[in-house]
Amino acid sequence: MNRAKPLHGSIEEDFRARTPGSARLFARACAVIPAGLTHDSRAALPYPVCAARAQGPRKWDVDGNEYVDYFGGHGALLLGHSHPAVVEAVQRQMPLGTHWGASHALEVQWAELVQRLIPSAERVRFTASGTEASLLALRLARAFTGKPKIVRFVGHFHGWHDEVVAGAMSHFDGSAPAGIAPAALEQSIVLPDGDLSRVTDTLGTREDIAAVIVEPSGASWGQVPLPAGLLASLRQLTHERGIVLIFDEVITGFRWSRGGAQARYGITPDLSVLAKILAGGLPGGAVAGARAIMEQLDAAAAKAAGREKIGHQGTFNANPLCAAAAVAALGLVETSDACARAEASAEALRQGLRKLLVEEGVPWGVYGESSVFIVFPNPKGLPIDPASFDPVALGFEGIKGARDPHLINRLRLALLTEGVDIMGGPGGMVSATHGPQEVAQTLQAFRSALRRLKAEGDIRWP
Ligand code: PMP
Repeated sequence: MNRAKPLHGSIEEDFRARTPGSARLFARACAVIPAGLTHDSRAALPYPVCAARAQGPRKWDVDGNEYVDYFGGHGALLLGHSHPAVVEAVQRQMPLGTHWGASHALEVQWAELVQRLIPSAERVRFTASGTEASLLALRLARAFTGKPKIVRFVGHFHGWHDEVVAGAMSHFDGSAPAGIAPAALEQSIVLPDGDLSRVTDTLGTREDIAAVIVEPSGASWGQVPLPAGLLASLRQLTHERGIVLIFDEVITGFRWSRGGAQARYGITPDLSVLAKILAGGLPGGAVAGARAIMEQLDAAAAKAAGREKIGHQGTFNANPLCAAAAVAALGLVETSDACARAEASAEALRQGLRKLLVEEGVPWGVYGESSVFIVFPNPKGLPIDPASFDPVALGFEGIKGARDPHLINRLRLALLTEGVDIMGGPGGMVSATHGPQEVAQTLQAFRSALRRLKAEGDIRWP
């Protein structure tokens, strides 16, 4: 164990001094992996830390530095790293086989758990990732309605397949990202989620819409919270117009509550897209939805309904290793207070951070629902009171559209030197294993990081 060492130089000098092993490994990675990265959101300057192991709420890098971890496996680890029950389930499964090329009991148990937990889950079909589940949900919706268009919202992320890329992380003006065919773009109508009358107008008047897909938390795990009433209006309008309502619960499923955002808000979509916590920290996704829509995947049922069967393959769908991890993890979600514990720690962290910003005179905001926290580092120097900051007023343009990647990188770097690893939101995912000790350590790290950022001229005052 190697807790934060005494700091001597600038933030970057200290980071480099603490992480020579990460620097070496990253140099090797760059010679073989484009950008040295396997996921865009792991990008960091001067280089990312390379992890070596993790346990509960903490992880260690190749140089032995310890971090309180808020990446949480990109949100997959509600139960923390390497939960003993999940480890045991995977170890038990390994020698029995990792791919039987056959149906099996674990996939049935897994689907039954999803059916019990997620309100929309009359039927469940597994995929290997959230991106694949999003793709399948859109295909099911188009086939069911016989209509071509999908309504999405600016800044809402639904994976990286062609149809959902434009306007999610970039190209907010509706232009085509490199590599995406204009024809794919034409099938999406991308609306601002803050403009209810435009949403109402589009759904109420157009006859070519198959589905509306939405992150029920608001864009990117709630970085841009939804205006009050939007989800209820979507539910009502789609119901009236025979449009399929899809909640992308890849982040919120099993986190916003045991039954996801839909159970927390009491609004049930027609289809849910699930992944992350769904598979207990291993790869996996699912579409969970209304029987009539899902049964397009069943040749006999589709024929009886006068429909064409929808094709769906995938080598690793519900493989027994992932299914074993998933059954162990979702069993704990169902029977323990994991969601509530993670949320309590996140709330303590959010409150502590707000107080700290006030004390340090830093005009930033802190918010977030359930077990996530999000920091608004006020890139434009707005007059913000951290005690009463309201992100809804800023909307997409003021938050996700105004991101300052340099400032976010500086905050993350400063926190890494203090032993805390946050995501680029900036913010993070809190697990059921984060407790008062992690919260206190994180608050202390933020205080030191803010002071150093002030000293190095990174923080702007209105
Ligand atoms: N939808 C949302 C809301 C997500 O956050 C993500 C992943 N971050 C995805 C879909 C895609 O999931 P996956 O990475 O498993 O393909």
